[in-house]
Amino acid sequence: MASFVLQLPTTGRWRSLSVSASSNGAAPGRSQSQGQGGGGPVIVELPLDKIRRPLMRTRANDPVKVKDLMDSIREIGLQVPIDVLEVDGVYYGFSGCHRYEAHQRLSLPTIRCKVRKATKETLRHHLR
Ligand code: ADP
Repeated sequence: MASFVLQLPTTGRWRSLSVSASSNGAAPGRSQSQGQGGGGPVIVELPLDKIRRPLMRTRANDPVKVKDLMDSIREIGLQVPIDVLEVDGVYYGFSGCHRYEAHQRLSLPTIRCKVRKATKETLRHHLR
């Protein structure tokens, strides 16, 4: 995992921002396992409509943040994947809400995700 600082145009709100990215730049599609023994998270490009977002209606996003992210993603692409849980082959997203909405509003078909396999118990914990 590499960390670096992005310098962006001074006209935007994202002038300088710290970003962490996988060492290979996380190319679209299923990539390497990052954990030992193949059980760690993987970076994968998923269709937006394949990610269930159980809490979406309970939390409002900041529209200014979403707009800024749209501008930035349009210009430089998504730099940090959103975290997604995979439970019995079904994908669940609980965070990355602004990035997800920015992709929706940009009509992007897929979003880069860091997918981690989880149990039903972990899922229940997130739903509490
Ligand atoms: P979210 O609800 O998506 O987590 P936040 O505003 O809390 O929204 O955080 C935005 C995140 O998006 C930050 O972690 C930032 O590093 C990340 N990010 C990924 N790609 C970009 C991009 N192109 N421009 C700005 N931030 C980005």
